[in-house]
Order: sequence, then C-alpha cells, then structure tokens
Amino acid sequence: MTASAYVGRLAPSPTGALHLGNVRTFMIAWLRARSVGGRVVLRTEDLDHPKDKPGAAAQAIADLEWLGFDWDEEYVQSERKPLYREALGELCRLGLAYPCVCSRRDVEAAQSAPHAGEQLFYPGTCRGRFANWESARRSMEGGRIPCWRFMTRPGSPVSFDDAFRGRFTEDVAATLGDFPLARDEGGAGYTLAVVVDDLLMGVTEVVRGDDLLAATPAQILIAEALLPWARKLLPSARPPAYCHVPLVVGPDGRRLAKRHGDTRIASYREAGVRPEDVLGMLAASCGWCGPSESPSLGALLPRFSLESIPKEPFVVRF
Ligand code: GLU
Repeated sequence: MTASAYVGRLAPSPTGALHLGNVRTFMIAWLRARSVGGRVVLRTEDLDHPKDKPGAAAQAIADLEWLGFDWDEEYVQSERKPLYREALGELCRLGLAYPCVCSRRDVEAAQSAPHAGEQLFYPGTCRGRFANWESARRSMEGGRIPCWRFMTRPGSPVSFDDAFRGRFTEDVAATLGDFPLARDEGGAGYTLAVVVDDLLMGVTEVVRGDDLLAATPAQILIAEALLPWARKLLPSARPPAYCHVPLVVGPDGRRLAKRHGDTRIASYREAGVRPEDVLGMLAASCGWCGPSESPSLGALLPRFSLESIPKEPFVVRF
C-alpha cells in the first residue's frame, strides 16, 4: 500500500465519555494511519439512540483534540440515513435482506445449543414471510418494530487476514445464521451503517478493538454484496482490511467500565493531568516508550509499531 493511499478511521460512539480504553485503540489507529502518511476520518456513530448521551459526541471530539488527535474528514452517522436506506434497498433488491419480527425470546427458543454470552444463532424463521417492513410491523404488537436481517448462504465461510490477529475464518451461516443488519425501518443501525461508511469513506483499514473481531465476517459479507453499488458512488471503493487490537481491561480482567473507577479523559483533564501523561501510560503499554516518559502523539510517530503491542489485553491497575 502506498503511503498516501491509506485511509484509517476513528469511530467513537457517544454512548458514554471517552475513556482510557477508547483512547488506546484510537491512538493505535491514528498512529497506524499517520505513520505511513495516511488520512484519518472521524466518524461519530450516533445511531444507538437509547444509549446515546446528550453532549457526549462533542465531548469526545474535544477530548480527542485535547490529546492531540487530528483528522482530515468528519462525519456524523445520523446525518447519513438516506445512504443507509439506499444500501438497504440494494440488499433487498439482491434478495439479501428481509424483515424479521422474532423477539429475543423467540430466537433463544430456536437455539439448538445456547452458549452464554455468545451471539444468538438465527435460523431464518422470517425468511420469505413478509412482503415488506410495513407488513411485518403490522403483525407485531406493543409498539415493537421488526429488524432487518441478512440472508446468509450455507457453506461459504469467510476468511480474512487480520493485521494483528492473523488469519480468521468463520462460517457465518453456521455460527450466526441470518444476523441482524439494523433495527430501523430505513436500515440505520450499526452493522449496516459501519459497512456502508467504511466503503463510501474509502477506508482502507479498520483498526478497532478485538471485541469486534467475531462480528467482522458478517460485515465482510455485507461489504462484498454492496461493493458494486458503492462503486457507483465511489469508484475506488473496496472492502477494507482489518486490524483488531486488544482491549483495555480492569484488574478483574473485564472490559474497562465505570465499576473500575473513573478513567474518563475529561476527568484527567479536570484533575490537571497533561495529555502527554495519558498518552505516555498508553504508549508504554504498547511498548513504544518507558513507563515514566510523556510523549506527544507526534513524538510517537517514529516509534509506532504494531509488533510491539502485547497480544493480551492491557490491564489498568488503580
Ligand atoms: N463505534 C464503535 C464503538 O465505539 C466502533 C465500531 C467500529 O469500530 O466498527 O464501539
């Protein structure tokens, strides 16, 4: 990949304040792009209405700027709904999307071997059942609305080479079945939106937390299906490469959360901590500097390497 062809992205969700965990991943993503002279897209992923917190999107941007991040383009998903609607229309036209009225309980009941904590397998109960989303909605009670599902094809496993994790293969039809695309009439939901955006923003590599590794094959299936459509809008569009990096966890080994204490960037800032101190701690966890150094993002550029990042989650001790 030539230097200027790289396009990376930072995709904060305004469901809470930016904390050490998000920032470590963003730092890796930003350095990965900038260290090869690439471009960076900032995309606010604000489609998760019930969980989105007012003011969190602006606060995340202010926190990133305080830490020294910059980007070349900025997008907000809630302003891009017509594109998701168009993409969904394309999937319907291809016979790859259908509305589903099953509740979580229905899906659980259909499991042959339920595994706690794993995403549910969906056997395609609603395939071919409804002519459109509206007729599916009319069949539901209590204000519930249908979701959209992707029609998977058995026996076509997806493989990709993750820049951090190596080869990853999953037969989505066997593990997830017809996975949900979006819970919205017009297809504005995380799974579909993230694929549409990565294609149309020309993202060449997605660097993100490895909690999304298992969701990636499903996203690749959508990207492959939408590629001809996306190329009409952006002729250079192609499915991105992936790089999934370990999460930050608390001493109990669980993903960093409020119960672990306050690791919000805004709180460090208010307490008089300098951006370089936050970055230094995270950069040391990636093997790019010693524990008492306080480098700026720019100073980390020549030190960046994916290879030195430990494969295990980074444990923050309080
Ligand atoms: N917005 C998502 C998050 O904050 C990240 C999605 C992605 O990187 O694909 O968890």
